[in-house]
Amino acid sequence: MAIDEKKLEEIFSQYPAKVKRNRKKHIVIRDPEQARQEIEANTRTVPGIITNRGCAYAGCKGVVLGPLKDIVHITHGPIGCGYYSWLTRRNKAVSEDPKKNFLTYCVSTDMQESDIVFGGEKKLARMIDDVVEIFKPNAITVSATCPVGLIGDDLNAVAKAAEEKHGVPVMAFNCEGYKGVSQSAGHHIANNILMDRVIGQGDWEESPGKYPINMLGEYNIGGDSWEVERVLKEIGYTVISVMTGDGSYKDLKNAHVAELNLVQCHRSINYIAEMLETKYGTPWLKVNFIGIQSTIDTLRNMALYFGDPELIRKTEEVIARELAEIEPVIDQYKKICEGKTAFCFVGGSRGHHYQGLFAELGIETVLAGYEFAHRDDYEGREIIPEIKLDADTKNIPNLQVEPDQRRFKLKISPERMEELKKQIPLSYYKGMNVEMKEGHVIVDDLNHYETEEFIKLLKPDIFASGIKDKYIVQKMGIPAKQLHSYDYSGPYAGFKGAVKFAEDVAMGFVSPTWNFTTPPWKNKPIIEGTIEEGGCSKC
Ligand code: SF4
Repeated sequence: MAIDEKKLEEIFSQYPAKVKRNRKKHIVIRDPEQARQEIEANTRTVPGIITNRGCAYAGCKGVVLGPLKDIVHITHGPIGCGYYSWLTRRNKAVSEDPKKNFLTYCVSTDMQESDIVFGGEKKLARMIDDVVEIFKPNAITVSATCPVGLIGDDLNAVAKAAEEKHGVPVMAFNCEGYKGVSQSAGHHIANNILMDRVIGQGDWEESPGKYPINMLGEYNIGGDSWEVERVLKEIGYTVISVMTGDGSYKDLKNAHVAELNLVQCHRSINYIAEMLETKYGTPWLKVNFIGIQSTIDTLRNMALYFGDPELIRKTEEVIARELAEIEPVIDQYKKICEGKTAFCFVGGSRGHHYQGLFAELGIETVLAGYEFAHRDDYEGREIIPEIKLDADTKNIPNLQVEPDQRRFKLKISPERMEELKKQIPLSYYKGMNVEMKEGHVIVDDLNHYETEEFIKLLKPDIFASGIKDKYIVQKMGIPAKQLHSYDYSGPYAGFKGAVKFAEDVAMGFVSPTWNFTTPPWKNKPIIEGTIEEGGCSKC
């Protein structure tokens, strides 16, 4: 069943007038005839609505900082914040020095009532002393939670004093959960400090190998970045750093020597990508390693950027070999998946990226959206100048960087840059909307009530979800493919990841589990009818 404005009105009819006006702006039915369809995003969720969003602390410590393995991440706050951001995203990491991999630890000041009343600064200072003594990390981060902001503990002063005392970088992140409207604010705060305090602190002046790149916005969930790095290294690239999956302070501080920055998740890290371009003259390329064709396109775009015929030849050789290996395997899963439909509602870029992989399996995405995206993630970066900055956004400091006097170097000439921009997404992201088909639904900040209503109307065969919403979906008798941490699976990126994804999705379709739950429409038939021209003859 396709959705139209009338059916949308039925969903909205349950809302009070003010909420209805609000939610209408966050939902768009795709019409390719319209040059641009505006959608509201990155605004506060209406109180009372059950949203899937997280807090600024979760975006800062949980998403961006958490995967950095040689840093001890201290959560300054009550234990719950630290506990619930403890490895929940399944960021994998290995370290050459096993004593410098702290990912499995949950380090929190565990603030009690007396700390809230009398302040927690002394407790935090003592904790940093202990961390230095026990772990001897390459650096320490301290992330603020809501209560810390409310009582006014001065994290920056404690961090500065500890850094002087121990001679170890100690970075304070003022990412109290209530800042901004979602975890997106926390991504921005983390980006600012990593740029200010880590990137460029290393002493490398040039790359140790050919075609040096940084991978940004790749968090190695279920081993994604390992699968991508396997292919990149085979082609001949030198991966300087990954931000931040399986990443480290040690690698990030030399990220300035890369000649190209790849941006996988645009939302969580585009700030660093832009600042690296301004400060060091390194362009960024929007990439997508989810899906077979997207991976091929990305590899070809990268080779075109460097423009070396040998690199282009090697790229094609690796693509041909990988395809030969995976195509026969993926074809068997395609037979199970063909003709099905999906909802794809994930955090940032995943809501967009996975649509291509679904399409390759013969699955059509009929509804998609993001938890915490901004308008440019939907409509493309060209609309950034039009986005009005509200008080929530202004609350997040916008770090201004200048070209580095010593290290700024244009990696390619301005003429070549302009030429390449016509062919590949250099310093550009087109957003999700243009790839959605006519009649398909785009929903920003999808909530619990709308999830149920859209499922009843569109009856998807699978729902690519987040962690919180997957249970509602499963209780409605629909397989949920959780794409924040992949539950217990992955990798899903790159060539071999596509096969793993196909296997998991096909398994969801053939599992007998779903026969044990009864979806609502099986008990409650939906009656459809038409009104003849001239209305009903009986009245
Ligand atoms: S909203 Fe505040 S209290 Fe809740 S997890 Fe985030 S930082 Fe902690």
